[in-house]
Amino acid sequence: MPTWMQKLYPGVVWRKDVTQKRVYLTFDDGPIPECTPQVLDILAQYGVHATFFMVAENAVRYPELLERVRHEGHAVGNHTYHHVKGLKNSTEAYLRDVAKAEDVLCTRLFRPPHGRMSACQKKALLRQGYTICLWDVLTHDYNPRYTVEHMLAVIKRYTRNGSIITCHDSLKSKDRLLTLLPQMIEYLLSQGYEFATL
Ligand SMILES: [Zn+2]
Repeated sequence: MPTWMQKLYPGVVWRKDVTQKRVYLTFDDGPIPECTPQVLDILAQYGVHATFFMVAENAVRYPELLERVRHEGHAVGNHTYHHVKGLKNSTEAYLRDVAKAEDVLCTRLFRPPHGRMSACQKKALLRQGYTICLWDVLTHDYNPRYTVEHMLAVIKRYTRNGSIITCHDSLKSKDRLLTLLPQMIEYLLSQGYEFATL
């Protein structure tokens, strides 16, 4: 994400502490039984912790996955109840959907679907005490036009101290993600990065 764009969104976290050799893996849109358990197995294999921005209706459908994510030491973030688009909804409707997700997920960490929402919605969520978190490295794992090699090259080029890396534990991303994830973790470990939750 270019720096000029980050400046357009004050109050939003794009990247964490730049003085620490530490990165933050994040997974959006789950949890689903077709992908999240495999992601958790890979993370466990490397002893790595991550943050899952969940769509609350998935967490309601698969409470055992929400429980497993928490039990294994990962963090949970709110990604709305129905994966709603901020710019297509009134602020009132958007905040209602976020609050409904909060009842299920119990977290004040928030990431807007598609990374976008109105200034008004953002302001209201900040006022309610949410930490709004985007990313500085996007894997594009959902995009069939990109190969895993390309995604790895992007990670190698753009990951820095404090980077927040976004992946998706979704049906669309699954095949690419499950190939990419072990290679990405091995590369980052080889570079001396540690992994933390948001
Ligand atoms: Zn999403």
